[in-house]
Amino acid sequence: MFQQILDATNRLQGFVHQTPILSSLTLNKMIGAEVYFKCENFQRIGAFKFRGAFNCISQLSDTEKQRGVIAFSSGNHAQAVALVAKLLGIKATIIMPSNTPQVKLDATRGYGAEIVIYDIETEDREEVTAKIQNKHGYTLIAPFNNTHVIAGQGTVAYEFLDKVPDLTTLLVPCGGGGLLAGSAIAAKGLNSSIRVIGVEPELADDAKQSFESGKIVTVPVSKTIADGTRTTALGHMTFPLIQQYVDEICTTTERAIIEAVKFHLLRMKIVVEPSGALGLAALLSKSIEPKGKVGVIISGGNIDPPVLQNILGE
Ligand SMILES: *Cc1c(COP(=O)(O)O)cnc(C)c1O
Repeated sequence: MFQQILDATNRLQGFVHQTPILSSLTLNKMIGAEVYFKCENFQRIGAFKFRGAFNCISQLSDTEKQRGVIAFSSGNHAQAVALVAKLLGIKATIIMPSNTPQVKLDATRGYGAEIVIYDIETEDREEVTAKIQNKHGYTLIAPFNNTHVIAGQGTVAYEFLDKVPDLTTLLVPCGGGGLLAGSAIAAKGLNSSIRVIGVEPELADDAKQSFESGKIVTVPVSKTIADGTRTTALGHMTFPLIQQYVDEICTTTERAIIEAVKFHLLRMKIVVEPSGALGLAALLSKSIEPKGKVGVIISGGNIDPPVLQNILGE
């Protein structure tokens, strides 16, 4: 799998942004450690998901490319699949729930994808997707449960450790676990003594429960503000990788996530969405003990304006 991440790094050359690595002396003083942030909020489409989508879609066969791709997502995966398909000249269809914010519909449509909206009250997402998929022969691009997607997401940590090789700890947000699994494999492949920690909201702690019980635990759909991590369970591909390569999963409160978004904005001058701020939230709430040089992956920056307004009004 490490080799697949190396291959993905080469494949993504020239298509992906080499995102900046930032730090804050104020923060380092506050928590008594050296912290480095890998800023995927500056990635294309505003989140790391461009990497997995590109690594996956660019490897489809010519026939699959001619037929087109399909994905279901209301968030960053939708925009990632739409943009990658556009860059590669492939037709993309995205299935989105009826309660998707207008800004996200517009962004996805802006990349040229066809949007199909399903009624969350009366229709089943998977049925809607399967019906369209079968009719047109589209290839489904899964958001995390796909080897090529996982390898693509792993390039975040690969780039990070390439620039800062002596990190002692790496904090990674976790939803379905694609970013965490890929990043853990890349990080351990480059530096076997690094401690890799997944971070998820306390209100959606399925990964922690799964990690500790040794089997995939499903939780009800969460209301956490960190909408990129509202997935109800890890995937059957991400879970064993996380068990093998990750050292620990920690959780953070909603309050800590809000404080972290504010810190990123007001102190570091960067816009980070709640899911992207989980690593800093874990540090600010002392959910983990920082030792040595701590790396934090900021996973994305696509925050809904009303959510940002609420956070700033607190
Ligand atoms: C998708 C996403 C996550 C979670 O990633 P997984 O690979 O599903 O664990 C975290 N943060 C942001 C910004 C995301 O878009």
